[in-house]
Amino acid sequence: MARTDGDRWDLASSVGSTATMVAAARAVASREPDPLIQDPYAAPLVRAVGLDFFTKVVDGQISFDDGDDSGAARLMTDVMAVRTRFFDDFFIEAASAGVRQAVILASGLDSRAYRLDWPAGSVVYEIDQPAVLEFKTTTMAAIGAAPAAQLRTVAVDLREDWPKALRDNGFDDTAATAWSAEGLLVYLPPDAQDRLFDNITALSAPGSRLATEYHPDAGASIGARTRALREQWAGHGFDVDVSELFYAGERTPPADYLAAVGWRVETRPRPEVFAGYGRRFDVTDDLAALRDSLALTAIKGDDR
Ligand code: SAM
Repeated sequence: MARTDGDRWDLASSVGSTATMVAAARAVASREPDPLIQDPYAAPLVRAVGLDFFTKVVDGQISFDDGDDSGAARLMTDVMAVRTRFFDDFFIEAASAGVRQAVILASGLDSRAYRLDWPAGSVVYEIDQPAVLEFKTTTMAAIGAAPAAQLRTVAVDLREDWPKALRDNGFDDTAATAWSAEGLLVYLPPDAQDRLFDNITALSAPGSRLATEYHPDAGASIGARTRALREQWAGHGFDVDVSELFYAGERTPPADYLAAVGWRVETRPRPEVFAGYGRRFDVTDDLAALRDSLALTAIKGDDR
């Protein structure tokens, strides 16, 4: 499914279905022995979306890795567990450092605004497309979940003028902010990725923090993984090649881009992030490029 400039989706279609996919992986990761994460909202949210394949996965009727010899499906659950924990810890550390404003870009079915222990006075903004936000907010209310911070949803496309929409919803650019861009960059055109970081930088008071992860090959390695899974998942009725939703083209590495505009940047390759949580990142040679994915954290200096 080719991307177009103004394309729209809900959680059962196009880019939106990837939010349901990763939430299903969080639901599976949450019920593993000795889990790295606890996301009690992932399974009910996925069920509410109603994509049969993912509902069956969260209900344990089928497994992501049924019939998969490549190891790609197993890896997805592990990657989501570690990735979720990495971003959870990022927000918790930012809050401990006194940051009281958070922006979750491309929030999808992320439930951090509901499940993290936000300090009193915290304001959390979630940005995503209108149908995505509306569905999650309504479903969370229906299952009796209440936000654990002051939650403000900002329904806007991240290829459009999202800073204006954020400000219109009360965003304070004089206060330090913790920003996350999780599972987002490959779904933006390369120039929109640069603009995203320009906008974040312009909105960030000194002491602001940012976390993201990216693939130096701009997603080709994830593409190989998703193509390996497509045939198997299509047999269960989910016939989407996620890599077709990525925007192609050369990208400026986020670490370089951010360092050049005043952020102190740290990156860690994925095996190191796994090791930090006591997990091994074992992949077959076919999927070896996935080792190169980088987790990035950055702090904004004083030179605004
Ligand atoms: N961050 C969430 C998580 O990790 O669970 C969701 C990740 S999901 C793989 C990708 C998300 O990016 C979807 O929720 C999708 O709606 C959002 N997204 C992608 N491109 C977007 C755009 N141009 N504007 C707004 N949201 C976008």
